[in-house]
Amino acid sequence: MTADTIDLTPFGGVEADAAWRDEVRELARQRDAVLLAHNYQLPEIQDIADHTGDSLALSRIAASSSAATIIFCGVHFMAETAKILSPDKTVLIPDARAGCSLADSITGAQLRAWKAEHPGAVVVSYVNTTAEVKAETDICCTSSNAVDVVASIPADREVLFLPDQFLGAHVKRETGRDNLHIWAGECHVHAGINGPELAARAAANPDADLFIHPECGCATSALYLAGEGTVAPERVKILSTGDMVTQARATKAKSVLVATEIGMIHQLRKAAPDIEFSAVNERASCRYMKMITPAALLRSLRENRDEVHVDPEIAARARGAVQRMIEIGQPGGGE
Ligand code: SF4
Repeated sequence: MTADTIDLTPFGGVEADAAWRDEVRELARQRDAVLLAHNYQLPEIQDIADHTGDSLALSRIAASSSAATIIFCGVHFMAETAKILSPDKTVLIPDARAGCSLADSITGAQLRAWKAEHPGAVVVSYVNTTAEVKAETDICCTSSNAVDVVASIPADREVLFLPDQFLGAHVKRETGRDNLHIWAGECHVHAGINGPELAARAAANPDADLFIHPECGCATSALYLAGEGTVAPERVKILSTGDMVTQARATKAKSVLVATEIGMIHQLRKAAPDIEFSAVNERASCRYMKMITPAALLRSLRENRDEVHVDPEIAARARGAVQRMIEIGQPGGGE
């Protein structure tokens, strides 16, 4: 996928107006389709969806929905996860080119080679992985339960944690485990939200809460700032995107600095309109998430595309790890 093959215009030439909304809703009704939108989607897509949420919440809805078709407005691994959980449903993603740099940071073949170097190790994969990698995984985890999942593994067993190095560092710090090996993957968007940027924003906004996604390059710095007293420790909250919405409703702070993809700000403002939310890094926008334009969504419903397929044998092997994640995950989780 290259930038010049991607339509980066905000709405792909289609106005997200009342006529667009009416047609999308009517086509969804005719198709018996449920529209799911991740928290990083364009505001217009979030607002027309039946459900918005993080990847775990959306996986749960996909698994329990009675709709015949799932339209997944997110990135490809999320739609694949829905297909793994609901193999008999039609799963569509409005643009199949919507990938994920984190999920692409490890292939099934690379994981098999890594496992061969550590026979007997337990493989724990964050949900941002391809179906093929999930099929090689023992336990799939979310950002909410990654620490608990790793802590539940007998202390003498080696653990292979993948693909996110920042989440892996967080888990290693929390569990104090020496036999945790971490894959050096990262999300280019979250890695770009760095420590110096966070420190400068926190110093300029001393009363603000900090909502930080554990995939961020600044997560370690946030804990360091709290440890040295630059920021009051109770103001630093390492949260999945779903937990950010819950925390927005609960906090007493008047302003919040948000370290994750900027699409998140839309849901936070809806959840707590009186709080001032601002991005630690305004440029932290995922171009893959933003490929799901109003035009792409309409085309998906009109033309029944792009259908997501997962090889049945791979899906069968991946399903157990994903189902365990659905069952043991906290109410909010995933990216
Ligand atoms: S923000 Fe990063 S982890 Fe999330 S979908 Fe985009 S590339 Fe993947």
